[in-house]
Amino acid sequence: MSGAAASDEARVARLRRDFPILAREVSGKPLAYLDNAASTQRPRAVLDAMTAAYERHYANVHRGIHTLAQEADELFEAAREKVRALLSAPSAEQIIFTSGATAAINLAARSFGDRFLNPGDEILLTEMEHHANLVPWQQTAERTGAVIRYVPLTDDGRLDLDAFDRLLGPRTKLVALTAVSNVLGTINPLAEIISRAHAAGAEVLVDGAQSVPHMPCDVQSLGCDLLVFSGHKMLGPTGVGVLYGRRDLLERMPPFLGGGSMIREVRFDGFLPADLPYKFEAGTPPIAEVIGLGAAIDYLGQVGWEWIERRERLLTEAAHRALGRIEGLRIIGPEPRHKGGIVSFAIDRLHPHDAAELLDRQGVAVRAGHHCAMPLHQRLGLSASTRASFYFYNTLEEVERLAEALEKAKAVFRRK
Ligand code: PLP
Repeated sequence: MSGAAASDEARVARLRRDFPILAREVSGKPLAYLDNAASTQRPRAVLDAMTAAYERHYANVHRGIHTLAQEADELFEAAREKVRALLSAPSAEQIIFTSGATAAINLAARSFGDRFLNPGDEILLTEMEHHANLVPWQQTAERTGAVIRYVPLTDDGRLDLDAFDRLLGPRTKLVALTAVSNVLGTINPLAEIISRAHAAGAEVLVDGAQSVPHMPCDVQSLGCDLLVFSGHKMLGPTGVGVLYGRRDLLERMPPFLGGGSMIREVRFDGFLPADLPYKFEAGTPPIAEVIGLGAAIDYLGQVGWEWIERRERLLTEAAHRALGRIEGLRIIGPEPRHKGGIVSFAIDRLHPHDAAELLDRQGVAVRAGHHCAMPLHQRLGLSASTRASFYFYNTLEEVERLAEALEKAKAVFRRK
């Protein structure tokens, strides 16, 4: 190991002490948590921020005059500002809190669809989307008469950009795609796609669920029109997510959920919606969760976004090398230079569920199944796959343990 690599591992060892759960054992072995694409773990700083919110500053936001309500409101809006800074968004009014990436896409699909889509208009998705970025558009297409088209993949699991150009047409109103595939790990060339889509007059929604937690994100230089992500995939709590949008687009989109907080005025014969961002935030928001997300953003900023990205690339390259040595194992997706920290694979004659169970017995947590991407698995000719997904707190030793555990799992199956 080089000097730089050794000092990185030492830094990771120190950072891991911030995550109480990473110290536990599973099946009598140290936990190797490699299921970060599903959900990450939380550092003490996030748990403490949420506890403090409940123990010292808790009241409903936006409505109260009393001290606790004001303190809760300040913490809540400070977190909105942290998200704005994270995304380099022009203003905090363009940051809408939802209960997760799925809720944010549903909001966008319903609201954008109601306002802008007519029968025969086209929505362009890709073959690698998570169900969260498929089903809401299918529902929107059913409601509006819009037509969905899918950008196909190359055999190594990247978007076929020539086909994208052919599919992009005068009727394309929206391109909705993931920044990073949650199965293949593929990092999509967003800037290129967005500029081509804009040239054709289409808006672009980016599903940032697997990118925002892992790499720097600047919505203004990217030029995306809408972007979503979830808190729990970036050290934050469950129950909070974000929709960012271009101001003029959000202003033209109608509210999705109705209720308290999202109105300027209500009469017996109708209502006037509030200004951004509140017109999209009906009801009591996830207050402690938003504050927890703010603490997660602070923590990640201190760890350093460039370092996080480099670290995950290192782990992914190591995983490709280690898994590449296993006979009968096929990695699904492109080479490491085109992907984030997600390595999915299939092993001859070993079902993904059996693989995940045998790994769990060795303390290694991975995910098996279709990972909410059934159409993608159909395209790949698989019913399921096994997925290891990394965050900066994973170690090279855990990557080696994954490979060793897989060899053992194969041996167990051969004996059966
Ligand atoms: N989009 C992608 C690419 C994902 O990986 C996920 C979750 O796995 C989602 C959307 C949905 O996120 P959530 O379940 O937090 O709403």
